[in-house]
Amino acid sequence: MSTEHTAPQAREHTAPQAREHAHTASAHSHELPAMPAAVDIFDTTLRDGSQQEGLSLTVDDKIRVAEQLDHLGVTYIEGGWPGANPKDDEFFARAPAELVLSTSTLVAFGSTRRAGVRAEQDDVLRKLVEASTSVVCIVAKSWDRHVTDALRTSLDEAVAMVGDSVSFLRENGKRVFLDAEHFFDGYRHNPEFAFRVLRAAEEAGAESLVLCDTNGGMLPDLVERVVADVVGQVEAQVGIHCHNDTGCAVANSLAAVRSGATHVQGCVNGYGERSGNADLSATIPNLSLKLNVRTIPPERLELLTPVSHHISELVNIAPDPQQPYVGTSVFAHKGGLHASAIARRRDLYEHVSPDLVGNGTRVVVSEMAGRSTLAMKAAELGLELDGEVLGRVLDELKHLEHEGYHFEVADGSLELLLRRATGWRPDFFAVESFRVITDHGGQGPGAPGAGTGPEGTAGAVVTGPVSTEATVKVHVGEHRVVATAEGNGPVNALDAALRQAIGPHFPALSGVHLTDYRVRVLSSGMGTGAVTRVLVDSSDGERTWTTIGVSHNIIEASWQALYESMVYALLHAQ
Ligand SMILES: [Zn+2]
Repeated sequence: MSTEHTAPQAREHTAPQAREHAHTASAHSHELPAMPAAVDIFDTTLRDGSQQEGLSLTVDDKIRVAEQLDHLGVTYIEGGWPGANPKDDEFFARAPAELVLSTSTLVAFGSTRRAGVRAEQDDVLRKLVEASTSVVCIVAKSWDRHVTDALRTSLDEAVAMVGDSVSFLRENGKRVFLDAEHFFDGYRHNPEFAFRVLRAAEEAGAESLVLCDTNGGMLPDLVERVVADVVGQVEAQVGIHCHNDTGCAVANSLAAVRSGATHVQGCVNGYGERSGNADLSATIPNLSLKLNVRTIPPERLELLTPVSHHISELVNIAPDPQQPYVGTSVFAHKGGLHASAIARRRDLYEHVSPDLVGNGTRVVVSEMAGRSTLAMKAAELGLELDGEVLGRVLDELKHLEHEGYHFEVADGSLELLLRRATGWRPDFFAVESFRVITDHGGQGPGAPGAGTGPEGTAGAVVTGPVSTEATVKVHVGEHRVVATAEGNGPVNALDAALRQAIGPHFPALSGVHLTDYRVRVLSSGMGTGAVTRVLVDSSDGERTWTTIGVSHNIIEASWQALYESMVYALLHAQ
């Protein structure tokens, strides 16, 4: 994988050099207004990011995500809303004992007091005081229509709710941030009221006034103008909180900083409802590397890619390979000429050195590859292949791709192929045989387990329970092991049986799991006689890899991919 190859310059030099070598910044800085020297990074993955459809975190998950964010070095971690649900209550109850933060400050989120209720009698505020955090962030409506139409109270009461709540929290020893919800819409419709909300918070002692583009509909030029106006009129720190509905959340956050905002909210990997929040994985390096604004500690920038991937594991959402800075494809190069030029001058084809953010240049190898591409790939893996061997591997690769393999998307299998070419043979375990049986209790044609049958075929609905059982016979050292396991499909059952057989001998496998399984039928004109290509994605929590199998038999193809995944895992566990 990309994170292990040799960096072009020594790692300990990367972050400081990034500043000196931030060619973009030095080339253009004379055109830009003065930037703040530093901003506070406020991650809201555990609160706003958790609103993403399909994202659900247990309390344990939340603690582990917070540990990763602390490791990365964000200034603030918003942990959730105490009192809003039992999960967040438990999180804040356990955090003091179980969450040890070395860099970040934990923040509890809530809202202002309700209309017509005294602050000291408001449940939400009481829960915030009880949450054992030194900082709280409360949300207030700053768009007049939300006050009159949604909250159905007066604008004067809305302003009083802000002032009272901030005062009450300050009296109880809390540092207070104010999230001014729908601020940009409010500013357009009734700027006088939007400013009254900010002033009430400031006068009551709020430390940061965070301008929220809650609907995510803004564009950078407007954000830049509005933030500049606010910065000119308040003393408190101004913050920015952008949603990505225009695809501009990161750009809007940068625009706000350009106008003087020094507190930037967002989520690692851009999680959040609808199109998500501003992606901190891009916002942080854009600020640090391009605009020379300090964000996280400079020496931790290279943790950006591993932390982004680790968090995507924890939230169980597959990382986007094209995600700027941290995606696995974003420093990948394909094609002979291009790749050989990369070998000479990386900066001709890469906007920043990938090592600065913990990513790596990756050479993508396919049948279109020339010898130089393959040689670079081998070098990336630390393998020395001489000319004759190189020619042989290239022939083999082209032959295999003709049969249906596709190594460009199967980095794990490609590495094993190159290693085998050097004479290496995996000797972790030897396979004697394997067998898979799938039963279904229903009538009709049915699909053979794991949804691998042709989809959308009329009537091809399994009407009864389906069970799949796999048996594998392997040799580990002098032990012969026979293991049988059930699964919800052939790959799942084979995986379970193989783990049962070899797992006790290789404890590292307990941290490895399959994250995706994809089947593609090639030369479909041959119907069920066609060749099947199976791709298996695996992860050990930090590293991800893809392996491939190709066969006329889908079970055989699946086994190949699975076997290679295990071998790859064992190779790298050493
Ligand atoms: Zn939000």
